[in-house]
Amino acid sequence: MSFQPENFARGEKHRLRLAVDADESLPVLLARGATPGPVLVASAGVHGDEYEGVRAIFEVFDELDPLRMSGDLLAVPVVNAPAFWHSTRLSPVDGANLARVFPGKPAGTLSERLAHGFAQAIIARASLYLDLHSGGIAFGMPAMVGYAAQDPRGRAAAEAFGADVIWGHPHLDPGRTISFAASLNIPWLYTEARGAGRIHPDDLAMMKRGIVNLLHHLRVLPGPPTPAPIQHRLWGDGNTDAGVQAGQSGFLMKCVRVLQRVTAGQCLGRLVDLEGRVLEAYHAPANGLVGLARELPVVRAGDPLFLVVQEEGE
Ligand SMILES: [Zn+2]
Repeated sequence: MSFQPENFARGEKHRLRLAVDADESLPVLLARGATPGPVLVASAGVHGDEYEGVRAIFEVFDELDPLRMSGDLLAVPVVNAPAFWHSTRLSPVDGANLARVFPGKPAGTLSERLAHGFAQAIIARASLYLDLHSGGIAFGMPAMVGYAAQDPRGRAAAEAFGADVIWGHPHLDPGRTISFAASLNIPWLYTEARGAGRIHPDDLAMMKRGIVNLLHHLRVLPGPPTPAPIQHRLWGDGNTDAGVQAGQSGFLMKCVRVLQRVTAGQCLGRLVDLEGRVLEAYHAPANGLVGLARELPVVRAGDPLFLVVQEEGE
C-alpha cells in the first residue's frame, strides 16, 4: 500500500479510496491547501455505531475552501466499514474493538490489518490527530473533547476546540488510535458525544466547530479559533471499560443522567429481571459527574453501565 498525499494537486479537494489490502479499503477525503503547511488528520467511525463525526467530516469537507488553506485536512469519515455497515461497535468479522488493537499488524486479523493500514498511511502523517467518537448506540457521553494531560500541545488544542466539556487524561492505555499517535509524538484529541445511535444537532455543531477551530489553531486557516466557554474540566483516566459494570443480565432503570453531579453512595440505577425484581443496585463510587451512562436498557453481564468522573482540582 502506498499513499502519497503530496502527489495530489494543491488548492483542490480529493475524494479517494485507499486500499489497505486485497480485502479492505478506507474512504479518504483530502483537502490540499493552496500552500504547504500542517496536516490535520481527522477520523470517525472507528466504532461502527457512532455517527456524529462521520457527518461532521462530510459537512466540513464540503464547506472548506482549499484555496484559503495553508496545509491540509486529511480525513477518514468511516475507518471501520465492516462495523459501520452492521451498526455495531465491534467488528462483525473478528469481534475485535478496533480502538484496542492499534498499531495493528499487516498480516493479522481484519481489524489488525485495518488498524495497521490506517495508522501507517493516515495517522502517521498528522501534525495533529483528531479521532471523533461518541456514545454509540448503547451509551451516552458528554459532548466533549479529550486530551493528554501531560502534553501542553494537546491541552492547547483542546482549549481551542470549542467544546463545553474538556477531559484531561493523565494516562493512556495502549491499543487506541490516539495511543498510536502518541507513540509517534503526534499531539492528539478525541471527542465523545451523546450517541445513542442519533446525531444531535448540538453535537454535530460542536464537532464541526471543533474541526474548523483546529484548522485555525494550526494556522491552516487564517484567523484565530473561536472557542466556546468551557463549562466542565474533567480529569482522570476515563477508561469506559472500567467503572460500574453489570454483574448479570437484566433491564436497567437509571436514576441519573450524563453530566449530573452525584455524591458517593448515591443511586445510579437498578437492574431488574422481567418480573421487575431488583437484581442489582448501582451506587456512585465517589463524588463527581456522571461521565458515561448506559442508554440502551437491555444489558448483559460485564457491560459497562456508569463512569463517575472528577472535575480538575476536585
Ligand atoms: Zn467510539
